Amino acid sequence: MTTKQFDGKTAFVTGAGSGIGRATALAFAREGANVMATGHTASTIQETVRLIEAEGGRAQAAVCDVSQEADVIAAIEKTIDAFGGLDFAFNNAGIEQPNIPLADLPVDVWDQQIAVNLRGVFLCMKYQIPHILKQGGGAIVNTSSGAGVKGFPASGGYAASKHGVIGLTKTAALDYASAKIRINAVCPGIIETPMMDRFSGGTPEGREAVIAQEPVGRMGKPEEIASTVIWLCSEGAAFAVGGAFVVDGGQTA
Ligand code: NAD
Repeated sequence: MTTKQFDGKTAFVTGAGSGIGRATALAFAREGANVMATGHTASTIQETVRLIEAEGGRAQAAVCDVSQEADVIAAIEKTIDAFGGLDFAFNNAGIEQPNIPLADLPVDVWDQQIAVNLRGVFLCMKYQIPHILKQGGGAIVNTSSGAGVKGFPASGGYAASKHGVIGLTKTAALDYASAKIRINAVCPGIIETPMMDRFSGGTPEGREAVIAQEPVGRMGKPEEIASTVIWLCSEGAAFAVGGAFVVDGGQTA
C-alpha cells in the first residue's frame, strides 16, 4: 500500500457541500486524511462523503451552521469521536452579499455577513485549537477573498468580513505559532462555484463581466484553491505562518 502525506491525520472542512469546500475535502481525502465534511445542508455534505468514499477515502458528515456556537462545538466533538483527534481545519463556509452601496445596505444583511463569514471562522478556530494542541500541532486555513485585501464597490459587509478573517488569522497565528499550529488564510479570486454562479447571475453576459476582472482571462477552478490549502497544511509550508495567500489569476495584482 502506498503511503500518503496525511495518512492518520484528520481534517475538518466547513462549507464542504459545494464549490471550494467540496474540492478541498476531496483533496484532503486523496492525501490520506480522514475528513469531517460540514455544512448547513445535510444532502450536499452527504454527497461529498459519498464522492470521497467512492474514491476509497474516509469521511463523515456533520450538519453545522458555523454562526451557531452549539453547532460548531457538536461538529468538532463528532470529529473527535469519529477519528480520535484533529490535525487540520479549513474554515471556508461563507455567503456572498448582494451588490448594495453602504448607506443602502440593510443592517440584517450586514449582520449575516459578519455572523457567517467572520464569527463563523472565530467560533471554528476557538473550538478547533484545543484539539489541535492535543495533537502537538497542525494547521488551519481560513477562507478570505480578494475582497479581504482590497475594497470592492457595493460590497461593504462582505469586504469587511473578509478583511476581518485576515486580521483574525494573523492574530491567531501569532497566538499559536510557538505551539506549532500554523494558521494562514487563502484569498481566492473569481472561482467557478455555485456562489459565483449566483453572483454573476450565471448568464453568458454575467460570466463575461466577472471574467473581465481576471488578467488570466478565465475563472479559477475550485481545485486550484484546494491545492493551495493542501500545500499550506503540508510540511512544505512549515515556514508559512500568518500569511494571506492570494490565489486569484492576477485579479488584485
Ligand atoms: P459555495 O456557495 O459553493 O460554498 C459555500 C458553502 O458554505 C456552501 O456549501 C454553503 O452551504 C456553506 N455555508 C453557507 N452558509 C453557511 C453556514 N452558516 N454554516 C455552514 N455552512 C454554510 O461557494 P464557494 O465559492 O465555494 O465559497 C467558499 C468560500 O470561498 C466562501 O467563504 C467564499 O466567500 C469564498 N470565496 C469564493 C470566491 C469565488 O469566486 N467563488 C472568491 C473569493 C472567496
